[in-house]
Amino acid sequence: MNVLNLDSIKQDLIKVAHFCATKGLVPATSGNFSARIASREILITVSGKDKAGLTEADLMLIDSLGRAKESSLKPSAESLLHTQIYRVFSNAQFIAHFHSSSSAVLSKVLLKRGIKLVKLEGFELLKALSGVDTHDHTEILPIFPNNQDIEELANLIQPVLYKLANSDKPLHAYLLAGHGLYTWGSTVSETIRHVDALNTLIESYLLEMQLNKIVYEKEETVRT
Ligand SMILES: [Zn+2]
Repeated sequence: MNVLNLDSIKQDLIKVAHFCATKGLVPATSGNFSARIASREILITVSGKDKAGLTEADLMLIDSLGRAKESSLKPSAESLLHTQIYRVFSNAQFIAHFHSSSSAVLSKVLLKRGIKLVKLEGFELLKALSGVDTHDHTEILPIFPNNQDIEELANLIQPVLYKLANSDKPLHAYLLAGHGLYTWGSTVSETIRHVDALNTLIESYLLEMQLNKIVYEKEETVRT
């Protein structure tokens, strides 16, 4: 890769991180972002930086096993989850991982009740996801339990990703319970669109659940 291309990918990656920061999705230095540079080379955010002020100095190269290349900097603790996504989804060029409260709360509450996926259905905004051309679509977001042992977590996620990557409905994202959401895209604009759409879809889902409960309780009062 020539220097000009690398510079433009760095700027694209910073654009994704700044977008998430502007939306309030990466509080308190949380979240991490990466771009595929070559088959065995990934550009990723360093650990513990405020994403609103992210610069090129906060990006570093890692190999396909998540190890730092030519740098004494510390890559994101979740690097293995990034390299895994690039391995499974050959068209993924950028990955965004954010810690919004709606994604953390929804995944936490559902998994606690033994529900291991979110089904997003009937929203026009689903069409913002690549390959989806109708609101009449069911988007599945798998939920995995959170774990500080990233290698163990990656091992748990891997078979599910491979299975869903090869299904007729492409996977666009997954959730870590009480933690956040991972999504990816083949271009910078597609990645930002996925972040924006999934964040709004999850908020809409939560709102729908709350309203359904209120309406149900109201109907119960009328019946009794
Ligand atoms: Zn995280």
